[in-house]
Amino acid sequence: MNSFFHYQENSLFCEEKSIEEIATKVGTPFYIYSYSYIIQNIQQLKKAFSRYNPLICYSLKANPNITLCRIIASYGLGADIVSGGELYQALKAGFPSEKIVYSGVGKTPDEIKYALEKNILFFNVESEQELQEIKKIAEKLNKRAKVSIRINPDIDANTHHYITTGKKENKFGIPFPQAEKIYKEASKIPGIDTVGIHMHIGSQIKNVEPYLEALQRLKIFIDKLTRKGINLSYLDIGGGFGINYREKEEKFPIEELSEKIAPLVPPGMRLIIEPGRYIVGNAGALITKLIYKKSGKRKEFLIVDAGMNDLIRPSLYGAYHRIIPVKKSLKKYGKKVDIVGPICESTDFFAQNRQFPAIESGELIAILDAGAYGVSMSSNYNGRPRVAEVLVKNDNWWLIKQKESYWNLTQGQIVPTDINLYHREIMLPASPSSIEFWKMEGAGNDFILLDNRDEIIKKRAELAQKLCQRKKGIGADGLILIERAKQADFFMRIFNPDGSEAEMCGNGARCAARFAYLKGVAGEECTFQTLAGPIKARIKENKVKIKMSDPFDFKKEVKLRIDTREYTGYFINTGVPHFILFYESVDKVKIKETGFKIRSHKYFHPDGTNVDFVEIKDDGILIRTYERGVEDETLACGTGAVASAIISHLIYNLSPPVKVKMKGGSVNVWFESNEGSRISNVFLEGEANITYKGYLNGGDYV
Ligand code: PLP
Repeated sequence: MNSFFHYQENSLFCEEKSIEEIATKVGTPFYIYSYSYIIQNIQQLKKAFSRYNPLICYSLKANPNITLCRIIASYGLGADIVSGGELYQALKAGFPSEKIVYSGVGKTPDEIKYALEKNILFFNVESEQELQEIKKIAEKLNKRAKVSIRINPDIDANTHHYITTGKKENKFGIPFPQAEKIYKEASKIPGIDTVGIHMHIGSQIKNVEPYLEALQRLKIFIDKLTRKGINLSYLDIGGGFGINYREKEEKFPIEELSEKIAPLVPPGMRLIIEPGRYIVGNAGALITKLIYKKSGKRKEFLIVDAGMNDLIRPSLYGAYHRIIPVKKSLKKYGKKVDIVGPICESTDFFAQNRQFPAIESGELIAILDAGAYGVSMSSNYNGRPRVAEVLVKNDNWWLIKQKESYWNLTQGQIVPTDINLYHREIMLPASPSSIEFWKMEGAGNDFILLDNRDEIIKKRAELAQKLCQRKKGIGADGLILIERAKQADFFMRIFNPDGSEAEMCGNGARCAARFAYLKGVAGEECTFQTLAGPIKARIKENKVKIKMSDPFDFKKEVKLRIDTREYTGYFINTGVPHFILFYESVDKVKIKETGFKIRSHKYFHPDGTNVDFVEIKDDGILIRTYERGVEDETLACGTGAVASAIISHLIYNLSPPVKVKMKGGSVNVWFESNEGSRISNVFLEGEANITYKGYLNGGDYV
């Protein structure tokens, strides 16, 4: 435990935020990171090595989450990468390319080209062939390539043999005699600048000796190169600084290392360090829930909802993690327990034979020190979507990675359409290349909803036209696509059956919010973007309450002459335009005919309008709506309900909440009415029901 993960009144907090509270919002399992802990680690490193003015390159493989990387980059750090993908992540996070160093034994030509184009600081070259490849590509691009040679100093870092990288039997780096030859060769290649020397001897190293031994060898080698006229500017000593995974265990002594390497850092060479684990390891935890308790013949198992696919370190390295209950319990089990996941592997454990306090199913457990090599090594094994990630700073928290959905599990897979499936004896389930849709309805407005966060649907308008057809398609009042948003949980895009894009639809918005919640895209309370502005929603079972945008453009007593009749109505924009007409009874009104005439009136050109026919009734209003785009009466219209309720208040003094009955169902409209006709804080509450789910064959629309 530490001051960033601590108990407050027996409940585990990350900084000043209750972990239990976050769990109710995001569901388990999830990773949680402490912002302040990460900053403290960075500052400790900066302070310890300050005498060198080093370039600290955060090793992305420890945890490449974009938000965490952005924070780290904002403290002036560079990045250590090992692939084109990590280069992409590093640049996306905002690490300047001139602070990026690139290691790895298997850099492909495409990756080398990408790094050259981005002008990274240098490549840590790991073989002679790699150097030749870099030379070839640099020539083609007419660029100079800056390189450093990764030395294999043949040093045992005294760590787990899977994470030792500096011994002669390891694949990493180049031994001294070969390296000397490569430096000489490289210095003669016109397009290559040999700027540095590199080593990385392993990970989770606990004492300074291996570094000192390796550096002594490097120093002798550097002096030799200098005598031969090869002068280097950077000494990159890699990462590997260990952290404490057990109570009372010490972290790697960075101050001591900094002090003791002083005679080994040649003057004129800039020191580079590449810590990963040290920055994020202790700052993260994996929160999981106890599902079942089970007594075996010899053991008691606590089965939790996280698995080795979420955190593989215990299975892979036999790594130890401190594990504590989120709600402190003072009782102990008589027997020791194994804390295991649901994966079909006997190595799927987080602890074995561990004394653990008594907790009940449904309670939460924190697996500490999981910030490094946790999420970055996670997988979808056993059909498990990757988990959500959360960042806490003081008493603020943010969801910084959404939990994946089942959709992600088949994303990108293609079942060839010409594959021979004649021999099937049963109906095959939908092919993985197909796209899941949900059919939902809100007050009788029906919608087709798709998760389009990865923009798998590109021809949105065509898809809407095709699917919304009542007899030849699925049939719906609209197609709703859930897409990514920059500053909200998601972006709701809604298309009419004619393919036109609507700004907003209240009933559709409720369905979108519940869909996003059930798909794990957003929490119980969420904010999403629409073309009409941001919308806030709260979901409780099948009831969704949404905050609508404040209405505007109110126009009183608009008189329209159509044929021989004059219609007097009220105009208001509640996200989309609405024209409201009051009738004694709306029962006999010819909605389609009258609605069409009004929406086509030149007063509303060029956009047209929706038309609401309103009757004051009992304890609320009864409305029928003609919707442009649908070009017919619909069973209900959310923005129409809001518009009609507000106008009924302004004209007939109905007070909120106004109950609005529509053919398709009822909704309640809340708002605040301020001086004059200023209306604010508008909420619409109603049901959002799932009618059925199915699959589209994606081929035509992607
Ligand atoms: N640099 C290189 C080249 C690495 O391969 C690694 C990890 O394996 C690191 C830095 C970061 O190591 P650590 O997270 O132990 O600091």
